[in-house]
Amino acid sequence: MTERDYGVPLAPSDRIFRDEVRDFLAAALTPELRSREGGESGRLDRMRTWQSRLHEAGLAAISWPTEFGGRSATPVQQLIFNAEMASAHAPEPINRSAINQLGPTIIQWGSDEQRSHYLPRILSAEDVWCQGFSEPEAGSDLASLKTRAIIDGDELVITGQKVWTSKAQYANKIYLLVRTDPAAPPHDGISYVLADLAVEGIEVRPIRQITGDAEFNEIFFDNVRVPLAGVLGPLNEGWRVAKSTLGYERVGQSRTHRIERRLAILTSMAREPNALSDNGLDDEYVADQLVRFSAQVEALRQIAAQATAAGVRGVSPGPEASVAKLLTSEVDQAMANFGLDLAGPAGSLLPGSPGAAKKGNVAKSYLLMRAATFGAGTSEIQRNVIAEKLLGLPRDP
Ligand SMILES: Cc1cc2nc3c(=O)[nH]c(=O)nc-3n(C[C@H](O)[C@H](O)[C@H](O)COP(=O)(O)OP(=O)(O)OC[C@H]3O[C@@H](n4cnc5c(N)ncnc54)[C@H](O)[C@@H]3O)c2cc1C
Repeated sequence: MTERDYGVPLAPSDRIFRDEVRDFLAAALTPELRSREGGESGRLDRMRTWQSRLHEAGLAAISWPTEFGGRSATPVQQLIFNAEMASAHAPEPINRSAINQLGPTIIQWGSDEQRSHYLPRILSAEDVWCQGFSEPEAGSDLASLKTRAIIDGDELVITGQKVWTSKAQYANKIYLLVRTDPAAPPHDGISYVLADLAVEGIEVRPIRQITGDAEFNEIFFDNVRVPLAGVLGPLNEGWRVAKSTLGYERVGQSRTHRIERRLAILTSMAREPNALSDNGLDDEYVADQLVRFSAQVEALRQIAAQATAAGVRGVSPGPEASVAKLLTSEVDQAMANFGLDLAGPAGSLLPGSPGAAKKGNVAKSYLLMRAATFGAGTSEIQRNVIAEKLLGLPRDP
């Protein structure tokens, strides 16, 4: 990777940082950590190990302010970090979403006690978090959520159901939205709660996906007691807190990381003879697709780095985050489709099938990417936000 690949000029301090990241990668990223063997448990082990290596080197959450265990990284440094991780094929840290979404939300809304208790545990992965926002009848219209929490002394008693909860099969903590004032209008009377997952009254049931894996779950709460001290931000004002998390989720740095990786894989597939062309990059359509993806990835890198850096300095991501989310998921999906085009019929074979392209990962990515335009808010919802908040068009009725 050359300096030109970053797309921005580097200051001397940026070069020092880049060299530090490269030295770290050379020492810490072993071939075992780059492997894709060992199924789901192998993948989780690698993500856990990777996060502890990043943490030991002080690189787990570089955009967080230094006082909370980050590096107060500039947008350019975040950009360098992401690009170097992607080009080295580093795994994701196990607590990716907590680093990118919950941590900044706690920094923004938490009390001193909550910050000093939760933030170090996110960095070390002592706590692994999942997000309990969606419910069977509250997805896009999240404010219609029904999970109830009744205050009983210094505790909340929670009853209800969450769905599509990614990572609940291995997380030990959950941040969730509950209705604490049912008499208030839908967006009021919601609270944002930080809770243990392995307690009496909680049942986690896996949901099997089209890929055959079960990466998300239903969670049932039956009179679950949670200390009132676990409420993040003001009681009954959880909607405002959730909006911060959703904003951070939409700019998600690691999604850029993932599509950078996918672009590198597609480029190498395109260079070889493939189902679309015998002469790889000389083919006009193949070259055109790759140039288009490269430009989109570059735009996304810039948007994500700037938005994350602004966010951890106390500025909530605004409707611009919807532009990042919409573009990322649609580019990600288009890339997975293009992978299938390049691979031809072998691209439709799943892992374990003889002759499957890229050990079945082409087919798996294609299937997995159907969800990209749903998770973290659907494309239709992002378009509504962009239309109303950025373009000033009339509200969705
Ligand atoms: C892979 C994946 C992981 C997820 N992980 C989590 C998680 O960890 N935690 C969590 O809480 N949730 C999670 N979700 C849930 C996700 O946030 C919801 O799927 C999403 O908000 C959409 O809600 P829904 O599925 O209920 O669809 P619905 O809201 O029922 O939408 C159905 C369709 O109607 C469209 N639609 C709805 N309202 C409008 C409107 N006003 N205008 C135009 N079109 C509209 C939608 O775009 C969509 O096409 C995950 C989802 C996926 C796919």
